[in-house]
Amino acid sequence: MAVTRTLTIIKPDGVAQNNIGDVLRTFEENKFKIVAMKMLRLTKQQAEGFYAVHRGKPFFESLTTFMSSGRIVVMVLEGEDAINRLRAVMGATNPANAAEGTLRKRFATSIEHNIIHGSDAPDTAAFEIGYFFSEMEIVS
Ligand code: ADP
Ligand code: MG
Repeated sequence: MAVTRTLTIIKPDGVAQNNIGDVLRTFEENKFKIVAMKMLRLTKQQAEGFYAVHRGKPFFESLTTFMSSGRIVVMVLEGEDAINRLRAVMGATNPANAAEGTLRKRFATSIEHNIIHGSDAPDTAAFEIGYFFSEMEIVS
């Protein structure tokens, strides 16, 4: 497996619940290298642009309102098979279905408020990394 990059976000609920430290520790324990990181607050329009693939779904309005409701931490992670390994560490979208020990099982409170985002494929990872970071801001 090759070293790849993925985009992750600690969502507004994770920041508000003081889970930044828990998430960073979990990344380090799982041998992800944090190669870019910043805190920001999305506008509604910026959240809609990020989640454009979900436009038209019943949860789109609520999701983009939630994602623009508070501070988030955005990171680029690098590691062996980073996209798939991050998804495994995150757990299922709905915390009720998330495996024991995963970030969503530990900290998420609902299918929407599930504390963390992770890219789901190489093409979406490339789009999402470029949405937040220039190559100059990624330090590996
Ligand atoms: P994931 O974040 O696991 O890749 P999706 O890409 O399917 O999940 O959905 C994006 C985000 O939209 C989810 O993380 C969650 O915050 C929200 N979401 C997904 N499905 C629902 C739903 N049925 N009801 C409310 N919010 C949802
Ligand atoms: Mg997704």
